Amino acid sequence: MQASFFLSAPNPLPMELQNHSQMTYQQGAAPFLVCATSGTTVLGAFDPLDEIADICSRYGLWLHVDASWGGSALMSRKHRKLLHGIHRADSVAWNPHKMLMAGIQCCALLVKDNTDLLKRCYSAKASYLFQQDKFYDVSYDTGDKSIQCSRRPDAFKFWMTWKALGTLGLEERVNRALALARYLVEEIKKREGFRLLLEPEFANVCFWYIPPSLRTMQEGPEFWAKLNLIAPAIKERMMKKGSMMLGYQPHQGKVNFFRQVVISPQVSREDMDFLLDEIDLLGRDM
Ligand SMILES: *Cc1c(COP(=O)(O)O)cnc(C)c1O
Repeated sequence: MQASFFLSAPNPLPMELQNHSQMTYQQGAAPFLVCATSGTTVLGAFDPLDEIADICSRYGLWLHVDASWGGSALMSRKHRKLLHGIHRADSVAWNPHKMLMAGIQCCALLVKDNTDLLKRCYSAKASYLFQQDKFYDVSYDTGDKSIQCSRRPDAFKFWMTWKALGTLGLEERVNRALALARYLVEEIKKREGFRLLLEPEFANVCFWYIPPSLRTMQEGPEFWAKLNLIAPAIKERMMKKGSMMLGYQPHQGKVNFFRQVVISPQVSREDMDFLLDEIDLLGRDM
């Protein structure tokens, strides 16, 4: 669970949540919302939504799912089980501009509530903008219903993508991305000097490149300190050469590692091979 937010309330705190929030509980606070993540940004990890939803329904907590990255897996019959239980969420955030490649930016906030909650929260009924005494049905005016006011109709971009590719086309995009990630994982396992951080759940392939000079070294603090410098140095070389752009980061005590996320339908297995060849070429003298 990525985060829970608290407000002051006398309700007893659910046992399951006490460990996560002891300080706030002792101050008399109680949780009202749980934010689960479907597809974390770095590792592509998925929270167990059904189990979290059980706790939320038992204690009357709002369940929000941050599916910004992983939500697109729902388009795939093969991979949608990653989000099993998402139908129980009260709200979901999802970015079609990520895996489905709708023109950036295109973000959706989906809410289960059908009592005009967003309108009740955000509508300002500004009479200088949203006149009610028009000659047509003003329920078609969307301005006052949106969270933002003067912004682009971003949903249109996703609608166009969906129309152009069809549901099957979008499903294929997701399946292809995950199949390519799988291919890359198997290649990394085969190659000397490459090491996976962990078996990926999704399209995020996280790995280290260990240059020859470090391969015989014992994996103590000195090894990790040296390895930490490798990804940034290789990235500098790839950028100056102009051959690739590949992100890296440290994460939860793990030193800098590369993160390859494949989403483009134009990327092929040959590109995955090139990626690994190129990293080896750029880093083998380090
Ligand atoms: C990308 C991402 C976000 C941020 O989404 P924006 O639309 O850029 O604000 C939030 N959460 C996760 C897990 C993401 O991957």
